[in-house]
Amino acid sequence: MSEQRRAEIAESLREVRERVDAACRAAGRRPDEVELLAVTKTFPAADAALLADLGQAAFAENREQEARGKVAEFASLRPESSARWHMVGQLQRNKARSVVRWADVVESVDSTRLAEALQRATANAIAAGERTAPLDVLIQVGLDDAAGRGGCPPTDVPVLAAEITRHSDLRLRGVMAVAPLGGDPDVAFGTLSKIAQHLREDYPEAVDMSAGMSGDLESAVAHGSTRVRVGTALLGGRRLISP
Ligand SMILES: *Cc1c(COP(=O)(O)O)cnc(C)c1O
Repeated sequence: MSEQRRAEIAESLREVRERVDAACRAAGRRPDEVELLAVTKTFPAADAALLADLGQAAFAENREQEARGKVAEFASLRPESSARWHMVGQLQRNKARSVVRWADVVESVDSTRLAEALQRATANAIAAGERTAPLDVLIQVGLDDAAGRGGCPPTDVPVLAAEITRHSDLRLRGVMAVAPLGGDPDVAFGTLSKIAQHLREDYPEAVDMSAGMSGDLESAVAHGSTRVRVGTALLGGRRLISP
């Protein structure tokens, strides 16, 4: 079973890397300009371990509660691994303490109150010896008007960026977005790309644009994405889980 899973994952990883490389070539970009983030939500730590064996270095989760146990299990499966973990899902402020214990990057910061909670939690975690590094964060930009999908309105990005950079234990690294369901990803990623460029002018270290998933990574890379977040195309379809 595990051998079969390993072969399956090896094949999809090869295919996804090829898609990213082809998208880079089509856009006249170097393949090393785009990082592949493996989204392991709903899949077991064992799958992340297989991916790590194949050279995959960065992983993402979208539910704090699911992630904390999985990251711990991954660490016991692959104690030598230096894998990095990203939180990409909506995050409640009361989960800040827990998320900073396992996440290297939180990509879903969409309010000044969440930024404050993460600053406090990171400072406490550093003081308690639970982490050593400041927390890398991205501003999640909401590209549609639909409520509940998270993301800061584009017009609020400058204010949120200014707030984040006031916090001594947060490092603003760029922006993240999910293309609106049913919308044209080229339009969404074109908008995100402009927002990312403006942010870089004010904050030169905010270089990242995290955009593109299994279904739209080519469009995201064409618009300058520096990190694609891929789940389904790597690990297969997810069963629906209750919220
Ligand atoms: C699930 C998820 C992904 C990956 O989506 P796929 O379509 O499975 O590749 C990317 N980003 C976020 C924020 C997600 O929640």
